[in-house]
Amino acid sequence: MRTLLSSALCVALIGSAAAQMDNRSFGKPITPAPADPQIQAAIQKISAQRIQQDITTLVGFHNRSTLSSNDKDLPKGQGVLAAADWIEQQFRAYSAACGGCLAVKRDTFTQQPGSRVKQPTVINNIYAVLRGSDPAQASRMYLVTGHYDSRDSSNEDTRGTAPGANDDASGVAVSLESARVLSKLHFPATLVFAAVAGEEQGLYGSRHLADYAKQQGWNLEGVLNNDIVGGNTTPGDTLQNKNVVRVFSEGIPSTASEQQIRMIRMLGGESDSPSRELAREIAGVDRTYFPAPAGEPNTQVFHPVMEFRLDRYLRGGDHYSFNLAGFPAVRFTEWREDFNHQHQNVRVENGIQYGDLPQYVDFKYVAHVAQLNAATLATLASAPGTPVNARIITQKLDNNTELAWDAPAGAPAGTRYQIVWRDTAAPDWQFSHTVENGTHATLPVSKDNVIFGVRSVDAAGHRSPAAFPFPARFLTPPLPKK
Ligand SMILES: [Zn+2]
Repeated sequence: MRTLLSSALCVALIGSAAAQMDNRSFGKPITPAPADPQIQAAIQKISAQRIQQDITTLVGFHNRSTLSSNDKDLPKGQGVLAAADWIEQQFRAYSAACGGCLAVKRDTFTQQPGSRVKQPTVINNIYAVLRGSDPAQASRMYLVTGHYDSRDSSNEDTRGTAPGANDDASGVAVSLESARVLSKLHFPATLVFAAVAGEEQGLYGSRHLADYAKQQGWNLEGVLNNDIVGGNTTPGDTLQNKNVVRVFSEGIPSTASEQQIRMIRMLGGESDSPSRELAREIAGVDRTYFPAPAGEPNTQVFHPVMEFRLDRYLRGGDHYSFNLAGFPAVRFTEWREDFNHQHQNVRVENGIQYGDLPQYVDFKYVAHVAQLNAATLATLASAPGTPVNARIITQKLDNNTELAWDAPAGAPAGTRYQIVWRDTAAPDWQFSHTVENGTHATLPVSKDNVIFGVRSVDAAGHRSPAAFPFPARFLTPPLPKK
């Protein structure tokens, strides 16, 4: 009897201990931010029909190989330079429609020979800048990009048909549509809409743009690279999923020093690079603008799948150029690629159609990707910047967690902060606690069992990506001299 009683008591104690897990009993479960009616209206203007026109026009340049800029005898309206001219015209037209709100740039440079470039080759990056309306925040920038060059089976062919409808006219269409609909609005921070070339030869255009951004001291807080976002539709393929888009992000920052990597390893911070926090922010924006029907939380019509790796096997992309320059950057790519429709000569072989043809692109799917990109850009440019110097004060052994951070530059009145956390084994934020005043808080949640983040929220509810806090005693000494 006695044994029975004590077992029952034991069960009851375990039960109550479970109910009081500190990481769940404090704070609130994460909920989506409120939708901004202005952003909601803007993304409704993204048009699958315009995306179809954009992609069809880009395919119409026949072959957009970067190397074709050296060909002087191309028929008029063919080749990468004709495509560059057209993209520039599009940005200029959008700017004319908003009273000159976009600064349109054509950055022309000569790429010196490398493994896939045999002779000096002119490359043009085209981009449009929507300058932030708040002088205190305009230096903060977010950029969306796709590559407008294309290729067929050979990396050197400038004459064969290389439609590049999915790879990557689809990504260029995302930049163009984002520019078209967002240029009608004003945001405190700055947006850049880009189309680059030289990707197929070795990320040359993006590397040039990322290096330029670094040299110019651009405060680039996020880069969205869209490459192969066409939702390839091969008849008979049942494994393509039009409800999702993959978002790839690096785990440990490409630019982390040995000392930083040691610290990341100690803290279990391998999944909290600024790029990864950007990916989580994209997932959060999606829950706001593509909400699931009430009571059916797992039935969103369109949502990102965060891929916790830099890119797919054997492949690379323009986001990596930005990572190498020290900027947070992610890659959007359709769920399932059909490699018969990428980097292939247009032909039929054994009854199989090869080639990156527009007939395999789902323009409605591209429109969903563009809506998610535009909603993310608009949210990031509306929200205050990410908190800086986020830190966990670790002066003594303590089951509470003391966090401190500094306000981001130009944070407007009404900015408050949200401390977010998740189990160390969970992929995304689970709980939050809002700090209405100040940049310091102590939570009755043990830092040993969760990963914390701190994000900024403005009066209207726009949220920044989270900052990963490092222990304060590691922040104090200066970083080692290079
Ligand atoms: Zn590509």
